[in-house]
Amino acid sequence: MELNIGIDVGGSHIDICKVNINNYKLEILDSFDITYYYKPIDLINKIIDNLFKLDLAGYEKINIGIALPGIVNTKKNYCIKCPNLKYFKEIDFNKIFFKKINKIFKGNINLYVLNDANAGTIGIYKKFFNKFNLYNKDIVYLVIGTGIGSGAIINNKIVLGADYSAFELGHTKVYYPKTNYKNNLTKCGCGSFNCIETFASAKSLTDLFNNKYHKNYKGLKEIIQNEKYSKYKILFNDFAFYLALLINNIILTVNPYYIFIGGKIVLSLNYFKEKLFYFLKQNVKMIKINKEYFNKRIVFLKPFNNINEYNILGSAFAKDFI
Ligand SMILES: [Zn+2]
Repeated sequence: MELNIGIDVGGSHIDICKVNINNYKLEILDSFDITYYYKPIDLINKIIDNLFKLDLAGYEKINIGIALPGIVNTKKNYCIKCPNLKYFKEIDFNKIFFKKINKIFKGNINLYVLNDANAGTIGIYKKFFNKFNLYNKDIVYLVIGTGIGSGAIINNKIVLGADYSAFELGHTKVYYPKTNYKNNLTKCGCGSFNCIETFASAKSLTDLFNNKYHKNYKGLKEIIQNEKYSKYKILFNDFAFYLALLINNIILTVNPYYIFIGGKIVLSLNYFKEKLFYFLKQNVKMIKINKEYFNKRIVFLKPFNNINEYNILGSAFAKDFI
């Protein structure tokens, strides 16, 4: 028997779950808040503590997946950088994990460390495999919140790329002025300028509104609660426009069967859905557009209140996709 453990590391919280291989049900083993100063070795110790709470005798194999909010070399289980976690930088998880676990457990253990959006993509593929008949079908996942995370499954494997930046769609460009550029550039968290997440994430929309009206709102929810629709409508129109450009690029690059869109932005779907399909119809000219098809092809996923089921499922089943 196999034991599958999925771990979702966020910027301020960690969930550790046991995942049932047959029905994908999650059993929470541990769930706790962390700070910017949380250390990778503390995570390893937590995982080992939780393993020991389980009766491991009946398992031949243990698969452990860790989804991290940053840049990861999944082939080497090496974390390059997590911007919101100070010490998750240049960490060889194989080294620190197996050094500890080998001393106390002699069974067969596999470790998979991956970017959280890639984990989410795998989780969605697993979760909706039957519902959307995904066998041998390529999918792309966009998770839009503070930034834009993304991943793709092509030919039944997660796309990793040569140096871990495949399908970082949030940092692709859809607009870059050639002249007078200094006045028209928006800096991105990655260090570059005019990445699409600087126009089309929940954070960028909030920043745009705050700058325009000299306000200090913390998020879109606050803007919607306190301002008139006429004032923030244009934000969502612009968002729909840029998202349509991104979807156009995705369709013309890999032409996936489905594009799943998740994250906090989906809570505002009513404000941008109609415009999104309008702009798609205008922009995507290479393939025959049919509204019915688009409505089915782009799947919006409601964000989770607490545990991110997709990230957990995806990290627990990473072995099948790497
Ligand atoms: Zn960027």
